[in-house]
Amino acid sequence: MKLRIHDFETRSRANGPGIRFVVWMQGCTLGCAGCFNPTTHDTSGGRELTIPELAGHLRTARDSGTAGLSLSGGEPLQQPAAAAALLDAARALGMSTLAFSGYTHDEIVALPGGADVLARLDVLIDGRYVASDRLATGLRGSANQRIRLLTDRYSLADVEATPVGEVRISPTGEVVLTGVDPLKLKVLR
Ligand code: SF4
Repeated sequence: MKLRIHDFETRSRANGPGIRFVVWMQGCTLGCAGCFNPTTHDTSGGRELTIPELAGHLRTARDSGTAGLSLSGGEPLQQPAAAAALLDAARALGMSTLAFSGYTHDEIVALPGGADVLARLDVLIDGRYVASDRLATGLRGSANQRIRLLTDRYSLADVEATPVGEVRISPTGEVVLTGVDPLKLKVLR
């Protein structure tokens, strides 16, 4: 089974509690105005990785101290079978699981494969991004979104304590900004 992804990051502190492996899924048709990640929308963009390939990266990250897996968008629920398989791989490694979805919890329940994804999550942040209700704190991009604690692994305070943004610089000099309110870089003259 393959998963179409935009990118992944092995050690993030701005995408859920603790140090997390983040997979940005590729493909989203929900079309929220003001979406912060439009390059993830094209359903034929990004690249495909197999679940065993990603599970291998997860294991390496787990062995280096990464405690959880976060699925972000793109839209994880538009690849539900692959998302569920990756969440299974994370749980088999003892990692916690979290997903951001533009669908509401009720919509996910009604989606084919949606309940299978929910059954494998500790935390869900759900709902479309609504720019006029922008919040950008506690992992919620806008005030309509909800933090759903689907297990007792984390408290609401744990989730809301997530930093709102981070800057990561790879060994090759690539700069990555992530989080619900990534830091804005200023050019000084
Ligand atoms: S659901 Fe997420 S990725 Fe999709 S358009 Fe809305 S904010 Fe963007």
